[in-house]
Amino acid sequence: MAEDPTIDRGFDLDRRLREREQATLRRHLDPAATVDARTRFAEDPRGEAPTFGAKRLVFASNNYLGLATDDRVRRAAERGASVGTGAGASRLITGDTGHHRALERDLAACKATERALVFSSGYAANVGTIAALAPDVIFSDELNHASIIDGCRLAGAETVVYDHRDPDDLRDRMAARERAGGDDEAWLVVTDTVFSMDGDVAPLEDLCTVADAFGAWVMVDEAHATGVFGDGGGIVQREGLADRVDVQLGTLSKALASQGGYVAGDEALVEYLSNVARSFVFSTGLAPPAAAAAREALRIAREGERTATLWEHVETLRRGLESMGYEVRGETQILPVVVGDRHDALALSERLRERGIVATAIRPPTVPDGTSRIRVTPMATHTDTEIQTCLNAFESAGSAVGLL
Ligand code: PMP
Repeated sequence: MAEDPTIDRGFDLDRRLREREQATLRRHLDPAATVDARTRFAEDPRGEAPTFGAKRLVFASNNYLGLATDDRVRRAAERGASVGTGAGASRLITGDTGHHRALERDLAACKATERALVFSSGYAANVGTIAALAPDVIFSDELNHASIIDGCRLAGAETVVYDHRDPDDLRDRMAARERAGGDDEAWLVVTDTVFSMDGDVAPLEDLCTVADAFGAWVMVDEAHATGVFGDGGGIVQREGLADRVDVQLGTLSKALASQGGYVAGDEALVEYLSNVARSFVFSTGLAPPAAAAAREALRIAREGERTATLWEHVETLRRGLESMGYEVRGETQILPVVVGDRHDALALSERLRERGIVATAIRPPTVPDGTSRIRVTPMATHTDTEIQTCLNAFESAGSAVGLL
């Protein structure tokens, strides 16, 4: 053991955090408590114990269909809890339950695949799947989610980043890589289908065509599309591409109102992942209440009523914001209201908050310089009046900040 008291091999975490703050603003776990995931947000402005005082309308949740507070989903979670609040072990040991199996059957049916496998989060599904596939080369959209990027790192593969939503750039990069590499390499193209910060959609059919030309597999992350597009089956289903996409991955934590991730694909893929994906094999099975809740949420989502209401809200918000002069990007339920300057975005978010609306400012480095924005995400459970309240707040807050 070292005797010299001047030696310090510790970690100066405070200094490291201060250094990071130079690039980005520090974020805190909000002492505010979300007391109702449907619309309500309570906070203590002093940062002390929650007072459950100020109620605000949340336009910053991924609970797109509002099912996290649906009584049918709650009751399903209770049924799941009757076999245990936790799985108690990895699925391969003793953590497997009928709730997991039933959810996987329903996911596979919805996705038009032979099988599905659930993980403890979407993050775990991405890192575990990409690392297990261990491609030689991965072609990844430049705006892919962090869990895909981490999966690429963990796979130790050569990763080629192609321009956002650009099949021509993908083709050029594949052609260049083909000239440099061997014939027997395994190639994987991976993309989000709905991009979380821009609310835009990958040109999936064109990407599949390019991938096919080079014999590459296609993997998609439908985190923001599951339950929202197609008959709940995401963009792959909407575009009729189930037989051209090799790996359909997503999360249970957004429209499906629960927690966990999934991979859907053919029998061989699921057999392989359930034996090789380390985040599946060496992690406790998804909690049974989460599996049961997600299954019920998927059933409700597939009925289509919630989705129809969500799209009505999206249209009302988009039209209303654009008619005020705001630039609204994207083509999905994620409405990025681009204001440009990071200080304007923060000021607008703050003025909205004062007017009872919670909508988050997204700034560099999360988005490119000059494209700071407010990310607005309605939920199917917002009422028409609440949507109007949001629009009114944008009008008066935008004027107060000098944006309109
Ligand atoms: N992929 C995408 C595109 C996401 O947005 C997210 C969540 N932010 C994840 C994966 C991770 O999913 P989970 O929250 O279930 O870990």
